[in-house]
Amino acid sequence: MRILLSNDDGYQAPGLQALARALGAFAEVEVVAPEHNNSAKSNALTLNAPLYVHRAGEHVRYVNGTPADCVHIALTGLLDYRPDLVVSGINNGANMGDDTIYSGTVGAAMEGYLFGVPGIAFSLTEKGWAHLDDAAALAAELVHALQPAVLAHRRSADGVSGEAAHPAPWLLNVNIPSLPRAQIRGFKVARLGRRHAAEPVITQLNPRGETMYWIGAAGPAKDDAEGTDFHATRQGYVSITPLQIDLTDHARLAYWAQTAAALSTQARGAAAPARASGGGEGRPW
Ligand code: MN
Repeated sequence: MRILLSNDDGYQAPGLQALARALGAFAEVEVVAPEHNNSAKSNALTLNAPLYVHRAGEHVRYVNGTPADCVHIALTGLLDYRPDLVVSGINNGANMGDDTIYSGTVGAAMEGYLFGVPGIAFSLTEKGWAHLDDAAALAAELVHALQPAVLAHRRSADGVSGEAAHPAPWLLNVNIPSLPRAQIRGFKVARLGRRHAAEPVITQLNPRGETMYWIGAAGPAKDDAEGTDFHATRQGYVSITPLQIDLTDHARLAYWAQTAAALSTQARGAAAPARASGGGEGRPW
């Protein structure tokens, strides 16, 4: 199995290095990761500056870009093969609930998924790398267990005849409690919880008397009920959340269809009296 490994904390981060060692025991691992910390860069791509790739080892390269940049260029020209799996992490801190929208760790795995390659994002629930080697061993156990599914997907994608169809790639978000191995109770599939809104922005004056704004910390968990990633990890389980990309609010499609229909009727109306006082000249309705 050939694994493309990336992260958002940078190629020198202990989380990536521990995971590379653990995965290297049974897979070919190629690292393409950001040069510097790119946490909270989500799926951002760098379109207005050149990207450079440097080698830091036989199987380690770093890029002056985002996590998604790294996976994107690896899959579209840097690697001379298509990896079987994209793995991201291990992140320095949790990526649960709303974190997944902002997470560069998830973004790297998602970039593989967008290209049809299965992806897994790994995060440690606490910052500071406590019990990192235990977490890397657990991550490697999960990847090893998924190896048959990964290779079956690959054969199916390659059109190998006689192979059961695994046409859709999958994307997993995995959070590992910062606990010693003996206190980990197992793996549990969980939905994403929700967080409260983030803490207020922090302001300071710089030495020139100008105001600096620092983004505040993520909010505490709001929905951490049983079945969520917050709940599972607090109970000592490794949480596994299968993710999808479709952000459509399917439940309210019908409601918004009514609104769109009403607007269309209004737009086709002859004199459009409703607009008379609106000052909306030149608008479609
Ligand atoms: Mn990070």
